[in-house]
Amino acid sequence: MNTIGHFLTGYLFARLMKDPKSHKGSQANSSYSKRYRYDSFECFFAGFAAYSIDLDSFINNFTPMEHGVFSHTIVGAMLFALFSSLLVYPFVRKFPENSTIPFSRLMALSTVGVFSHLLFDLIPYLPDDPVARANEIDHHMYFWPLWDFPVHFNTIFPGYTYTIRVIVEVVYMVQLGAFLIYDWLKNNRLFAKSLYPPYWHQSSNPKWSSWGAFYLLYGLMTMSIFFVSNWWIAVLFVGLPLALLGIDQLTYKMTKN
Ligand SMILES: [Zn+2]
Repeated sequence: MNTIGHFLTGYLFARLMKDPKSHKGSQANSSYSKRYRYDSFECFFAGFAAYSIDLDSFINNFTPMEHGVFSHTIVGAMLFALFSSLLVYPFVRKFPENSTIPFSRLMALSTVGVFSHLLFDLIPYLPDDPVARANEIDHHMYFWPLWDFPVHFNTIFPGYTYTIRVIVEVVYMVQLGAFLIYDWLKNNRLFAKSLYPPYWHQSSNPKWSSWGAFYLLYGLMTMSIFFVSNWWIAVLFVGLPLALLGIDQLTYKMTKN
């Protein structure tokens, strides 16, 4: 699946998880009060982890690691989950006292993230033309090294054609977008707030550790998207949340006045 879809799917999966900190929180009026908040660091981090295994395309510039091969196995994805958690842990340790997260929780969030990626990577199509297949290594061999089977919908269900593959992804992305917009307009939960550290701790002045975690993770994703995908997707990846946050602030001020 596409980059932005993976990121947002990881984000949404984390929102279904229970937040162990929630009983201490002051957001008792939220109907999702036991789950991770829509604007939490944890949801952003799960989104990063969900993206992380596609960092292999970027890493490929310096190493022989090929896109979609080792990283897209359960073993490889777990290593990426570990890598994501180790990467951000030094910052998270220095978060304000009521929002620090134990390493085991980071691992839980990143595991959910990488598995959401593997799940949605069932959608892309593995070429069934033997000539095309012979020229490349099989991708998505999730059960490697036990079983070298490329796991895709079209290797499991013979009727899954390329057209269906495109329709499935487009329908999913439209639903995802519709849900996020509905959640924003109806419930006042704008997902882009999870990409802005002041919302993580409900403090207008978060410390360097929060900004550090944000720039590190978001910077890595944007850089990877820029070098691997199209430059305009990287622009969209940064510009869209910024625009949404801007609109949200503007309308908030307008309704206040
Ligand atoms: Zn992938």
